Amino acid sequence: MAGKGIVWECECGNIEYGAYPPAECSECEAVDSFIKVPDDEIEEREAENVLAKRTAEEEN
Ligand SMILES: [Zn+2]
Repeated sequence: MAGKGIVWECECGNIEYGAYPPAECSECEAVDSFIKVPDDEIEEREAENVLAKRTAEEEN
């Protein structure tokens, strides 16, 4: 997982990467809503995020 930085998850489920949490969520526009995802949950969160996006695309 090296090189991706820290994984942050918004309360809406949006995932972002970086050294610091985004100030504002690009999905739900919440401010300071990101929390750090524990290292042992990163793969799980990424899998959920990918599945959610695929489902949304299929519905459109
Ligand atoms: Zn959000």
